[in-house]
Order: sequence, then C-alpha cells, then structure tokens
Amino acid sequence: MQRSVASQLVRHKIVTQYRVGASTSRAFSTSLKRDVDFTHAVIGGGAVGLAIARELASREGTSTLLIERHGSVGTETSSRNSEVIHAGLYYGPDTLKTELCMKGKHMLYDLCRKHSIPHRNTKKWVVAQDEQQMAALGKIDSFASTIDVPTRFLPRKEIEEREPDIRAEAGVLESESTGIVDSHALMAYLEGDFVERLNGWLADLYASNLEHWRLSRRRDIIETSTLINSAGLGAIPINNLIFPAGDARNRKPYYAKGSYFSYAASHPKPSTLIYPAPVPGLGGLGTHLTLDMAGRIRFGPDVEWTDDPTDLAPNASRLGDAIKAIKEYLPGIDEDAVDLDYCGVRPKLSGKGEPAADFYIKEEEGYSGFVNLLGIESPGLTSALAIGEMVGRLLYGSERGGGGGKAGTEDSDSDDPKRWFMGLK
Ligand SMILES: Cc1cc2nc3c(=O)[nH]c(=O)nc-3n(C[C@H](O)[C@H](O)[C@H](O)COP(=O)(O)OP(=O)(O)OC[C@H]3O[C@@H](n4cnc5c(N)ncnc54)[C@H](O)[C@@H]3O)c2cc1C
Repeated sequence: MQRSVASQLVRHKIVTQYRVGASTSRAFSTSLKRDVDFTHAVIGGGAVGLAIARELASREGTSTLLIERHGSVGTETSSRNSEVIHAGLYYGPDTLKTELCMKGKHMLYDLCRKHSIPHRNTKKWVVAQDEQQMAALGKIDSFASTIDVPTRFLPRKEIEEREPDIRAEAGVLESESTGIVDSHALMAYLEGDFVERLNGWLADLYASNLEHWRLSRRRDIIETSTLINSAGLGAIPINNLIFPAGDARNRKPYYAKGSYFSYAASHPKPSTLIYPAPVPGLGGLGTHLTLDMAGRIRFGPDVEWTDDPTDLAPNASRLGDAIKAIKEYLPGIDEDAVDLDYCGVRPKLSGKGEPAADFYIKEEEGYSGFVNLLGIESPGLTSALAIGEMVGRLLYGSERGGGGGKAGTEDSDSDDPKRWFMGLK
C-alpha cells in the first residue's frame, strides 16, 4: 500500500498540532481540511474502539484513523462502569458475549500483567437468599462447567470465616477468575500504543454524515476503505444513517441507565465482589458490591430505562431502593454512609422485560468493509481485546499483514468506488 500525499499532509498537520498542544499526549486535530484516505476508520474512542484501532493498526502497510467526538478518549460508557473483569458466567451457550468475554478476560489479564496496568483478581461471590435464588446459582454453576470457567459452592464455615458481614442464607457460588481493572489506565495504555508505537491517528470529529460507495470526491470529507462503527451509545444512530427508515436493518435503540452509590464508612468492608442472584429480564446483574483499585467500595448499578443516552445525572430518588437491595446481602451497612456517585448508560438492543440480546458484531452484507458493532454493553470492557481481534478477522480472515483483502489499498487518486465517505462536523 502506498500512502497518499494528502494523508501525509494530514499526518503532518496532526503531529504539528500535537506538538503545539504540548501538555497532552493526545494526537487530536480539529481541522482535517483535505480529502484523505485511510485503510481503516474506527468511529468511537471507547475501550472497544481503541482495542479495534490498535488491532487494525498492527497490520503492516495500513493506516488507521480513530474518530472520537469528545476531544479525548474514554469519556462515555468505558469510564462509567463497574470495571469488573467478568468470568463469562451469565451469557449462555453459543453467544458472542460468552465467547468474547472468556477470551477477552484472558487477553486482558495477560496485557495488564505485561504492561503493569493496575488490576486485581479479586474473585466474586454470587449470593442466594432462598431456594429459588439457589436454583439460579445452580444453573450458573452447571453452565460454567460446560465452558471451563472455574466456580464452586462454598461451605457455610468458609462463608462465615471469610466474609462474616455477608448475608447468604441459602448459599454462595464463587467465581475464581473474576477481577477488577483500572479502566482509565487500560485505555491510556491502548491509546498510547495505538498512537505512539503503531502510528495510529486520532481525530476529534463527530461522524455525522456517511456515504457508501460514492463515485465522486469532494472536499472536507474523509475517505476510507473500511469503516468500523464502534460508537457505543452512538452506534445505532450511525447504523441508522447507513440503513435509513424503511431498511430492515434500521433499528430502535434502547438505553438502560445504571446509578452507582459510594460508601464512606470503613465497616462493613468485604474483600471480594458480591453479586445478588441474577433476575432474568432485569437488564443488569442487580445492585452489586464492587471494589476499585484503591479498595473503595461502590454499589450499583441499578437499572432505570430511559430514552435519553445523555441522561447521566445521579437521581436521589434511586437511593432508597438501592439501600434496600444492598441490605439483602449486607444487612449491617451504615445507611448514612451511602451516597449518590455516578451513572452509566447501557446501549441495549432489547427493551424492558425482553430477553437480553447478544452483542451484534458483523460485516454487513452488501456493504463490504463495513463492520457494525451494536449493543456492546457488559461484558464489553472485559471483551474489548477479543472484539478487536474479531474485527481484524472479519476484515482480513485469519491472516496477519495488511494491504490485501477487503481493506484494499489507499491510493486517493483511484476511482475505486468501494470507499466510505464521512462528512465532518
Ligand atoms: C453501568 C454499566 C456497568 C458496566 N460494567 C461493566 C463491567 O463491570 N465489566 C465489563 O466488562 N463491562 C461493563 N460494562 C460495559 C462496558 O462498559 C462497555 O461495554 C464498554 O465500555 C463499551 O465500550 P465502547 O468503546 O463500545 O463504548 P464507549 O465507551 O461508549 O465509546 C464509544 C465512543 O464513541 C463515541 N462516539 C459516539 N458517536 C460518535 C460519533 N457520531 N462520532 C464520533 N464519536 C462518536 C463516544 O463519544 C464514545 O467515546 C458496563 C456498562 C455500563 C453502562
């Protein structure tokens, strides 16, 4: 692949702005003014978009542009979650969620160990208060054994010795491979690796206008051979730009807000993650107890369906129900020490009361080079590295290296109609 003159200029422009900016390592530009070509353009600078961009940029002879609307990466869902490295217990057989979570978990632990990204294998308890909940834990345990994820029911004595403050009337299922990761440190690593080692390009742009296979060229657009929609809460709006109303692939987005609650007291202080037994159709895993890397406890997220993906304001009316849910498994909690913290919004493909949908990750039929990622809710953080690898496989098959395959070349003087065009804002 040959790099076009135009793209050389833009690289120069980005680098110049980066140097002028000086105080940050981010290579954002707000003024891409020329027609340029990239082999890959990834929309969305969250953990998943970063992992995809890093994976694609590692292919020789290609160029990768990561487009993020906020001026810095990782300010939406990727920094508003529980930071749990999930084991893969909940998502059922033959789902992308199970496959990518399990694979992603191993990749994430390896990456964290190798590059000193703060993380901890905390383990996790799923607790049952009655026989019905115990049956739900039994199902999780049976499924875990089919996918080789280690779980075990704890003897009563061990429960009482290890976590004397936890109420688990019927039993506890422990997941050994669950852990936590510092999501900000993870994204800082991915961004640095993408920009500095792999010469990836970051652009502070709002992808708002997409056209496929346009024959003519014009100014103030980005041209790319492949397009990856990894825009999180913005992914269905982008999907619907490409598949407008009337197209079978046009979709309705659903959003489930989750509120977190901080805990200011030093007691009780469990040392593992505590989850209630899952409730089918809830839209989340129940208001659980997680720890951050500093050992602080946080509770949440609850589930509140909303039409507004920007609705991130903590709401005091959620506090009462949250305390009730927490007291189920942590009865000795100091209620006055529980307070509103932050919120995140889950990008959902199914609505309230409907069965949970799987991740949708696909190169769209009839749209060669367009990989669409929708409904990347939990366990998306855990799965990010495996999703990156999967997108690489969708575009290139199993071979490494670039230039060939669907990504093609990036000669901007070519009239090859198989290109994506993005308007800038
Ligand atoms: C409450 C909650 C708890 C969770 N807990 C966990 C957990 O413990 N473990 C786990 O594995 N997963 C968890 N998840 C899921 C995980 O956080 C997400 O799956 C993951 O962060 C998704 O990353 P992303 O890159 O797809 O999306 P995002 O982080 O949302 O990134 C998408 C980016 O795209 C950008 N964008 C959108 N539209 C445009 C546009 N038109 N132009 C340019 N840029 C655009 C946005 O600004 C954003 O930065 C949780 C999610 C929520 C909501």
